[in-house]
Order: sequence, then structure tokens, then C-alpha cells
Amino acid sequence: MKFSETFIPTLREVPGDAVIVSHRLMLRAAMIRKLSNGLFAYLPLGLRSFRKVESIIREEMDAIGSLEIKPTVVVPGELWKESGRWESMGEALLRVKNRLDSDFVVSPTAEEAFTAIVRDELSSYRQLPLSLYQINTKYRDEVRPRYGVMRGREFVMKDAYSFHTDDASQDETYRKMGRAYRRIFKRCGLTAIPVRADSGAMGGTGSEEFMVESEIGDNTLILCKACDYAANVEKAACKPDFTAPASIDAAKAAAGSTPAVEKIDTPHVRTIEELCAFLKTGATQFIKTLIYKAVNVEMDLSAAPGCTKLKQYQFTPNASPVYPEAFFAVAIRGDLDVNEVKLAAALKAAEVMLAADTDVERITGAPVGFAGPVGLSTVPVIADETVTAMSDAVAGALAKDLHYTHAAYGRDFNPWLVTDIRTVVAGDRCPVCGGDLYEKKGNELGHIFKLGNKYTKSMRVSYLDENGKSHTPIMGSYGIGLDRTLASAIEEYHDDQGIIWPITIAPFHVIIVPIKYDGAVKAATDSIAAALEKKGVEVLLDDRNERPGVKFNDADLIGIPYRLVVGDKNLAGDSPKVEIKRRGEKDSRLAELSNAAEELAASVYADLAELNR
Ligand code: ATP
Ligand code: MG
Repeated sequence: MKFSETFIPTLREVPGDAVIVSHRLMLRAAMIRKLSNGLFAYLPLGLRSFRKVESIIREEMDAIGSLEIKPTVVVPGELWKESGRWESMGEALLRVKNRLDSDFVVSPTAEEAFTAIVRDELSSYRQLPLSLYQINTKYRDEVRPRYGVMRGREFVMKDAYSFHTDDASQDETYRKMGRAYRRIFKRCGLTAIPVRADSGAMGGTGSEEFMVESEIGDNTLILCKACDYAANVEKAACKPDFTAPASIDAAKAAAGSTPAVEKIDTPHVRTIEELCAFLKTGATQFIKTLIYKAVNVEMDLSAAPGCTKLKQYQFTPNASPVYPEAFFAVAIRGDLDVNEVKLAAALKAAEVMLAADTDVERITGAPVGFAGPVGLSTVPVIADETVTAMSDAVAGALAKDLHYTHAAYGRDFNPWLVTDIRTVVAGDRCPVCGGDLYEKKGNELGHIFKLGNKYTKSMRVSYLDENGKSHTPIMGSYGIGLDRTLASAIEEYHDDQGIIWPITIAPFHVIIVPIKYDGAVKAATDSIAAALEKKGVEVLLDDRNERPGVKFNDADLIGIPYRLVVGDKNLAGDSPKVEIKRRGEKDSRLAELSNAAEELAASVYADLAELNR
């Protein structure tokens, strides 16, 4: 391909809103152009790399027996109403009407469409397991699209969905997907970290995210220095740094020597720090209590304190009943923070948020800052496991300027639910081996997910077993963002001059730069280009009438793995030579003109084989 015949309008400057390296380089290297906020067009160079990521993904999906289909991007709103996500997805879902006033959505993901397709065809257990995928456009009306194609509004996702009769079959497909994902990222040259992830409030039974380390990452990863434990902080657990009593009676016994609970004046004390200073205790002696509001709670609250009068709704015909809104008091050891994702998962809630001040005052009967579990009966108390080890603690006394001392779990209060809701931080102990945990920032490239029967139940999918009995299949879903994968490769591989492509996803393997494209140089250039192309090597030939410096800069910017320079000086003499340089390396070497194509093709193939291994 000749440079003059393609369309690579490289840029020296980029707009100020392009703040991260990959966004800047994709614009400068003429891979993409912005159409609107979160909407990007791929130009020829960008599309070539994009297609390579796509091919790698397709090959690996095909290799594990997932079957590609091509549903539509616009799907009937009816399906989303059946699953309940027409309401629950919120503003991210782009809803449109056609000329007949029927509702449609522009797919942000495709559990509904795939479930509907399978539902219509499925009758017997013999048809399962079934694994289908697409590589297709998605639209999410992201509040804050940013970082170029990393978080766009329109993007392309490979999404696969599998259907099974039982857990063992689901586990097998889930493991195969995990292995395929590892291979996909390795082949793209990416250092992806698989981490344990939150599997969502409703129905999920296991989930893993594939992250890349990134300063601008939206996710915090918790990793162990000693073993391979890795988890999204939303899911991360740690080894207990407390001794939990074996039972509530054991807790009462442990509180035996604790003096009776006592109300004390704590005037003008608002924060935990002030309280610690005032009482001369550490934060670990304090029970921090926060009032939370939870939305769409799928847990049974009919017997929970303060919840008997709450209304339940069944939003969609086959979904479980939910409480649209409920309040909870959440107690945790004073030095720790509540992990809201864990809390939402424990409550099977779509979302949790700190309650408004007026709600806190109504629930605790006191201004904000004096909530505590002792004597609180207006809402259910959820306690982190750390609280069970507290047999002589300080807690808010549900009245202005008053706290309790000597509060003991089991004796003075008995939470409705005890579970792990702490936010794990660097320095905590690994739950697997006890090693030191540390943190990294990461960006999610892919996500594999066991969904249970969340969609198959609400959308009434069924099959008959060998005895003619009807069952609901279980389901998995597995996504990878292609745009984000491509951008992440640039984040990982670049220098001050530009991109340094992993060869598997480079737009071309070799760029040939003739110092001046005419005479003997042109002849040598054309013959090497033809020889390389004959061997299947992808060549970009910079035939432009530009200064060599300009061509070299562009070659570095667009990041083609090998640069071959053809110039008068090296061609002169008995053994004409050309210069070969690998992008990212400082030094070039000379190769015999007669042998250059052979040698270079061998290097290209060796590099490809190394990544594709
Ligand atoms: P995030 O937490 O980053 O919003 P997500 O959890 O919503 O991602 P999934 O629903 O799991 O993402 O989608 C699967 C993949 O699709 C992600 O791993 C990511 O690679 C890609 N993806 C999701 N949203 C976007 C977006 N706005 N722009 C580009 N890629 C995206
Ligand atoms: Mg995700």
C-alpha cells in the first residue's frame, strides 16, 4: 500500500480534551477522528488495527466452539421490558421509537436479544449446551464519555452468551472462555490481569474481570504480594484481623467482664477523629454506624425490624418481588470503610446510597453523627463481621451529643444480618495465603459472568429434560471491548515519538521509507515491497515527496514494527544495502539488498509466531 494512495492525515497537535496517551496518539496517528462527544470514526489506519483485534477475538471464540451469529443492533423494547432492564438500566439505555410509535433500544449489551433467539428455538436438553457470540456495535449513553475510545458512547463489543442445563456445564464453558480471554490478550501483546469480580446483585454466581494496569483506571485492584490472589476491590476479601466469637452466646460470654453500657456526654464531637481524641481511644474501639438507602431490594424483609409495612412490587411478570426502597443501619469497626458494592450484593439491591440527612434524623431520632446499633429498632442493622469481635466499644447513642461506652455485640445489640462489607485496603492480609495485599489502578477490558437464571427465568426460557420435565436453563455472558483493547495496547506500548505496536495488531508489519522516491532508490524500493508482499508481509510504502525527517517522524508516530530505509548512499557500491530498524529500538542495522526481503519477512514471522504462540 502506498502512503500517497491511502488516507493518513497525521497531526502534530491535538485538541486539549485528549488527555491520555492513547487518545492523543490515535488522533495524531490518524487512526480515529471525533464526530461528537463519545462518537469516533475509525480512519483506514485505525480500522486495520481494529480488524486485527477483531480477527484474534474471532479465532479464539471459534476455537472454543462458540458460534458467531449476527443479530441486530436495534432490538424491540418489549424484550427489555420482559427482563426488567427497560426500567432498571436507567439513562444509559438509548430508547427510540419507530414511525408506528413502537419502542426499541439500541443495544448496550445483548442478553435479551440472545435469550429471545434461544427461547424461540429451544425445546430439548439435547440442544444444550449452546454458546453463541457476536462482534457488534453497542451504544451506551455514558454520562461522561472520556479518554477517546476507552469510554465512548458507541463502541464494539464481542459478546458471547451460553446456555446450560446444569452448573457443571456452565463451569466448563466459563473456564474455556477464561482461557480464550487469556489467549486473546496475550496475542494482542497485552498484560491483562484476571481478577475476581462482583457478580452483581441479582442472580450472578461467579465473575472474573480482565484488567490492565492503568493510572487512569476506574477500578481499584487488590493483589497479593505472595500468591496470585487478585480481586476488584468491589469484591476483595481479606483474612480476618479480629477473632470472631463462635456464636452469639459466645459473644455474650466474651462481654461478661465488660461493664454495663453507659451513656456519656460527647459535646461538640462530630467526627471519629474528634471522638477518638475526646475519649483517648483508637478508631478500632468505635462502632461506626451509617444509615443507607437501598433501591430495588430483592431480599425478603417481611420479618426485618422496621420493614413490616414496606410495599413490595413485582415489576415484571416473572421477576422476583422487590422492595423499591428500604433503609438500613450499617455498622462497621471505626477504622474501616463500608464497601457499597458488597453491601448492595448482600442486600440483593440494585443500588445503595447514604441516606439523606432528613432520613437519618427520622430514623435515628438524632442529628447526623449519633447513629449506633444499640437500641435502634426503626431499621434493620447490618453489621460487618468485624463488629462481632467488639465486646467493649463506643457507639452513637441515638441522641445529640451522646455516645455509649462499653457497648458489646450480642449483649447490647444483635444485628439483623452479619456479613463481610468492609473495603479491603493495601496492607490487609490475603484471604488465601495471608500475604501482604497491595493496590493497583486498572481498566476493564473484558468480563466473564455466570448469570444463573436471571434472564432465562424472567424471559421464560425452558427446555424438556429426558423425562419430559420442563426446566429453566442457566446462562453465562462474556464481553470484551474491542476499542478499549486497542487503546490499551497503545497505553502499554508507546514512547515520546509515538506508538510501538505489538506486531499482531499493527496496521502494517513494515514501513518502507525511500529517502527520495525516484531512480535507483525507487527501483530498489519497489522490488523489496513486491518481494515482501509476495511473502504475505503487509507493507506501507512512504512514496510521498517529503523530507526524510518528516517521513521518519510519521513512521515513528504510527508505530509500524519495522522500518526499512532505502537511500542512495547505501545502495552505492558492490554490495548494495538497505537499513532495517525495529520500532522502539535505538540502533538500526544494514542488510544486503538482495537478502533484505527474506531476512525481514523471517523477522516478521518470528515476531508474529512469538505472540500468537
Ligand atoms: P465499565 O465498568 O468500564 O463501564 P462495564 O462493566 O460497564 O465497563 P461490561 O458491561 O462488562 O462493561 O462490558 C464489557 C466490555 O465492554 C468492557 O469490559 C469494556 O471493554 C467494554 N466497554 C464497556 N463500556 C464501554 C465504553 N463506554 N466504551 C468502550 N468500551 C466499553
Ligand atoms: Mg463489567
